[in-house]
Amino acid sequence: MSAKDKADGAVPKKEESTSENEEEEDKTTMETIRRFFAQTLNFSESNNETDASRTVEQVIPDLTFEGLSAHWREHGFKKIVTMVGAGISTSAGIPDFRSPGSGLYDNLKKYKLPHPTAIFDLDYFMKNPKPFFALAKELYPGSFEPTPSHYFVRLLHEKGLLQRHYTQNIDTLDQLAGIPTEKIVEAHGSFYLNHCLKCRKEYDMAWMKAQIFADKLPKCEKCKGVVKPDIVFFGENLPYRFYSLPDEDFKDCDLLIIMGTSLEVQPFASLIRHAGPKCVRLLINREPVGRASYVSAFDKNDKDSMRYGKPHNIRDVGYLGDCDAGVEALAKALGWEDELKQLIQKERELLTQEASADKKKDEKSTKPSDDSDKAAPSSSSSS
Ligand SMILES: [Zn+2]
Repeated sequence: MSAKDKADGAVPKKEESTSENEEEEDKTTMETIRRFFAQTLNFSESNNETDASRTVEQVIPDLTFEGLSAHWREHGFKKIVTMVGAGISTSAGIPDFRSPGSGLYDNLKKYKLPHPTAIFDLDYFMKNPKPFFALAKELYPGSFEPTPSHYFVRLLHEKGLLQRHYTQNIDTLDQLAGIPTEKIVEAHGSFYLNHCLKCRKEYDMAWMKAQIFADKLPKCEKCKGVVKPDIVFFGENLPYRFYSLPDEDFKDCDLLIIMGTSLEVQPFASLIRHAGPKCVRLLINREPVGRASYVSAFDKNDKDSMRYGKPHNIRDVGYLGDCDAGVEALAKALGWEDELKQLIQKERELLTQEASADKKKDEKSTKPSDDSDKAAPSSSSSS
């Protein structure tokens, strides 16, 4: 089974409640709801009793990248959570549309957006969905390949070490790298599924792709409402999994790897505070982000900041550099260098083969036919 098959095969499901353990389920649901409101309304959670008993322990004596690698080699980590942002996809060539001067940002000028982020503003989208779909065409998954950073996470999974992979990215490169769907939390959604904004009818990726690349505004076949990819816009909630899974994921998690994120976008950034008392936190990023301010550096109960290279650091390690360089250094230190290289090579060959097969298929299907004015093959819409 290829990486792409895996990515296409399993559709993320909503958590289902079973009849047994209903009481337990109710508790979990209540806890999830409580956390949901705490995070979306920005209530402080730091004063509950569970936090008081959680004094962070120093697991690694030498809190440098070398110290962490040595500890990993000698003692290992058993349960790893990764959380990633745009930085792990930049080497794939995915442009940063927020940066003035980038080609993408300039392309959007003709739409006269009030500000670049208006493109992900639900109210704006309702009035004028065209700029979003123009951007979607530029960024559409399929034109980019996963990076060594994505494949490093896949390697963690192959080794049975990956508990969960939380991503802010909407590029679906995590799935394309063969990280199983159930291991991924796409915190800001993705192009994977699409829904009609009026009647909620679901459409799959192939249907949406056909619409976008035909420069059509995707309209619901049932009610003519606009169909939008399940990307979390401003004013929309994050997926249920983002709120329901961290408790279980961080229980016994002994290493949190944070890569390529500014740690500024909430509630995503607040994931770092779930790390338990024995959890080491490794940041791989170009800029030193997420660090304690001067004041909070003296607050031992400050769970929202990292302390690498600062006083009172007991568990944080920082690697300042490109994500790919960071994971390659880590792989080398762990003796996984060849394994990572081989995995990348094998997977990229598969993707190239699939891309050329898809291209042939596309060429066949775009040949003129009797019903060429129909938008998309009906077989591709999901049931
Ligand atoms: Zn509809």
